Amino acid sequence: EKHRKGQNLDVFEVGRIISEHKERYVVKTDKGEYDGEIIGNIRFTAHHRSDFPAVGDWVAISEYDNDKVLIHSVFPRKTIIERQAVGKQGEKQIIATNIDYAFIVQAVDRDFNINRIERYLTICHTSKVSPIIVLNKTDLITDNELSILVNKVQERVKKVPIIPISNESQKGLIKLKESIEKGKTYCLLGSSGVGKSTLLNNLSGRELMKTNRISTSTNKGRHVTSHRELIILENGGILIDNPGMREVGIADSKEGLEITFNEIIEISKDCKFKDCRHTTEVDCAVLKAVENGIIDKSSYENFLKMEREKEHFESTIAEKR
Ligand code: GDP
Ligand code: ZN
Repeated sequence: EKHRKGQNLDVFEVGRIISEHKERYVVKTDKGEYDGEIIGNIRFTAHHRSDFPAVGDWVAISEYDNDKVLIHSVFPRKTIIERQAVGKQGEKQIIATNIDYAFIVQAVDRDFNINRIERYLTICHTSKVSPIIVLNKTDLITDNELSILVNKVQERVKKVPIIPISNESQKGLIKLKESIEKGKTYCLLGSSGVGKSTLLNNLSGRELMKTNRISTSTNKGRHVTSHRELIILENGGILIDNPGMREVGIADSKEGLEITFNEIIEISKDCKFKDCRHTTEVDCAVLKAVENGIIDKSSYENFLKMEREKEHFESTIAEKR
């Protein structure tokens, strides 16, 4: 099998999937970008869509035809961001892999919503991606209002770093850029309208886009794909901008919920009943803590809501089996 024509283990190289569209891949190596094609073996042994390469994957490749590569296998993934597959109840689809950090972007205008931050945190914790909260559009509020807001978020979300920025006034952008580590992979999470695209442009910079285009057009005549989902930043950080990233849900998020709401989980160990749902039960430690103000009431309500969503997802999976 391994000694099939053109397949010599010695010539394997490592590349990274930087875009995928209908099983057509673009693979980046330190020599350039190539069109990638999966070998039949991947297709034959795949049990699930997730066995196919996804954006962010490190893959073993071999070169053929000068500007094309064959993708032989996918290296184990460090992190996986997935969402529920469209139109397929209970089935998941990989959005991106091997992301180290997610910027959870939220605007401090009237759409500001801490519940939504907790939702994105749960996605991060489920995916094993480290979250960083970015509060954008700070030009719209006073410094005083901002510091009240930052305190409010930090009180509810204790261990996650918060970086306030404004794309408009550019305030905080340098600090954000400096927080980006070389060789680490980042993504932007957040609802539509919070300023992700604008931030992406500010982080990548026009200059960089231009040099990128030049280097790819000289790359053995390979025609440039218009949409690139993985962007190398000036300081060597990597930003994944995947369209599907914007629609992730909290499917299958038991562990993520436990980490995001770990205070509630800890307190719930004192509930009288092991299967307490913390709604109407007697001697519920969580309800008591909410009453006493130890647990934030809206955080508690958000927790219950997301628990229900998770259970709904689990039951649709169970039905399929
Ligand atoms: P996305 O949907 O998250 O990608 O958001 P966009 O980047 O498209 O931004 C949505 C709107 O917010 C646009 O009209 C932007 O010009 C505006 N916007 C983005 N960043 C800022 C900011 O820092 N301050 C203000 N006032 N507006 C911003
Ligand atoms: Zn309880």
